[in-house]
Amino acid sequence: MVMEHSVSNKMLVFCIDIDGTAIQFPGEVRKLYENPDHFILLYTARSESIRSTTIKELFDRDIPYHALAMGKPRADFYIDDKNIYEEELESPKPKKILLFSGGLDSYIAYKLWKPDLLLYCQLNHRYCRQELETISKLNIDHSTLIIDKKVSLYSEERLDAIIPLRNLFLVSIASRYADTIGMGVLSGEVNGDKGEDFRSLSEQLLSVCYSNSYWCEGRKINLVYPINNYTKAELINEYLLNGFSIPELLATRSCYSTSAIPCGQCSACVKRFIAMTINGIQEHYEVDPRISPIIQEFKKRFNTYDDKRKKEIEYVFGW
Ligand SMILES: [Zn+2]
Repeated sequence: MVMEHSVSNKMLVFCIDIDGTAIQFPGEVRKLYENPDHFILLYTARSESIRSTTIKELFDRDIPYHALAMGKPRADFYIDDKNIYEEELESPKPKKILLFSGGLDSYIAYKLWKPDLLLYCQLNHRYCRQELETISKLNIDHSTLIIDKKVSLYSEERLDAIIPLRNLFLVSIASRYADTIGMGVLSGEVNGDKGEDFRSLSEQLLSVCYSNSYWCEGRKINLVYPINNYTKAELINEYLLNGFSIPELLATRSCYSTSAIPCGQCSACVKRFIAMTINGIQEHYEVDPRISPIIQEFKKRFNTYDDKRKKEIEYVFGW
């Protein structure tokens, strides 16, 4: 940057973009310049190499100024009338990323699917801190873990821990890092944002968003459910058959509460209890899931479950 004049204290400094503003409104710039208390700094994203051409152009257009700053400074965000700086085209990101919560399903998905990257989205939901604590202790390659804080959905969380549209946000965030996104959906989880429609439509929608344009080379997004052949119990069985460790599995946390040890009373605890019991693994809960009030909810919904899930519940609770 070259300053042709010094700026005194009483002066008002006007920073005006050449290509966005000064060229369109030379008369306004001239008016500002006429006031002796105004200092006109013109700036442009044009590179320093074309300074003399730019000075000549300003002269030809009769645009007066006190100083001229060439080249756009590097920044994360630019706020001006248009993007006149050169930005790299967004390229495909040929990696596999797994949405990761530190829960049992996503931990086993990590072991079986072997993603390049793990993504934890810090949505600031109630049990976020517990999840992060759990993740810090898990036997994963922590150098591949991304903790993304772009989106906070704290205000959206319902009492039952459901966050509407959560998976839509998660896959959108994941698409910023990789073209292939893995989500830990289990067999029988076919509703709403865990079903086949959600999977194929998300792929289509995100691929449209990243279609070839002035800022993106064109990216094809794949959303995959790497563990959806298994129920939770079958998934644990597969994990054990692959020779993975039980203590590592026990280090995961699925509970929706903020209690120090799993509550035994939320739906995540009950589902986990059923799957672990079928595999002969015992865990400690604040309240025995068998006498937890939420069991009544499971009973009410029993007829909506698929046959595999019904059999598992019957096996554990003897219904
Ligand atoms: Zn719980």
